[in-house]
Amino acid sequence: MTELPKKTKDEKRRKDEDLFKVVDSTIDYRTYLNLIQIARRLNIEEYLGAISSGKEARIYPAKTFDNKYYAVKIYYTSTAQSKRAIKKYTVGDIRFEDVKVTNTKQLINTWAKKEFKNLSRLYEAGTRVPKPILVYENILVMGFIGENGLRAPLLKELNDEEITQELYDDLIQQVEIMTKRAKLVHGDLSEYNVMVYDNKCYIIDVSQAIPIDYEDAIMLLKRDLDNINRFFEDKGINIKPTEELLIEFGVSGD
Ligand code: ATP
Ligand code: MN
Repeated sequence: MTELPKKTKDEKRRKDEDLFKVVDSTIDYRTYLNLIQIARRLNIEEYLGAISSGKEARIYPAKTFDNKYYAVKIYYTSTAQSKRAIKKYTVGDIRFEDVKVTNTKQLINTWAKKEFKNLSRLYEAGTRVPKPILVYENILVMGFIGENGLRAPLLKELNDEEITQELYDDLIQQVEIMTKRAKLVHGDLSEYNVMVYDNKCYIIDVSQAIPIDYEDAIMLLKRDLDNINRFFEDKGINIKPTEELLIEFGVSGD
């Protein structure tokens, strides 16, 4: 029986580097090593260039050997503002009671974990959100919304004629499922955090979502609905007033 030739260290290193089409300067060494582990686990052939770099995170498409795509969200910084938000929404959230708020790295990892938990809760309740796959330290992997590594547009990016009554109704229905079944409030919902794929709304960016029975939750839900209503009303769609929606969702509007 012939043995397979052993890979030299050099060959192995070259393979790991092949995983990254673009090695981005914002990726630190620890994250880089974690990405390699994740690639092994999820059969990822390569990570592609960042789709977006928001205030706190970057999103990279990852392609598997069988040509499926994941979206990989890497949390890389934490601004003073986001630190305040993280403290506000994780301290006082019994799900994250034992997190030390002084350690920035731990805070970022907690934020990633929180987004993953919220995503899972929403997904299990039947809300249209990216499918949660895994979270490890500051890296979250989820289902890719789009085709062939090309992301779907945000609600904000649609042409006016694509913004229809059906789309509004669909989004409101998703918020209703979020509220009634998942019992979560997004807290940062707007045309920037909804993707539209195949005429259906996908709610994204749920790290700051909080349970409906928490302090401020109803106020945040109101604000979310006002944002959505303002956007669609501007486009000439028949909207339902926020107060009416709150009653339909079974939450009192005070
Ligand atoms: P912000 O830009 O508001 O700071 P963020 O950095 O927290 O946001 P997200 O809003 O979660 O990150 O994602 C940023 C962008 O990445 C989105 O606007 C969208 O274009 C893209 N994106 C997010 N999730 C996915 C996904 N699952 N599939 C494809 N593209 C995605
Ligand atoms: Mn966002």
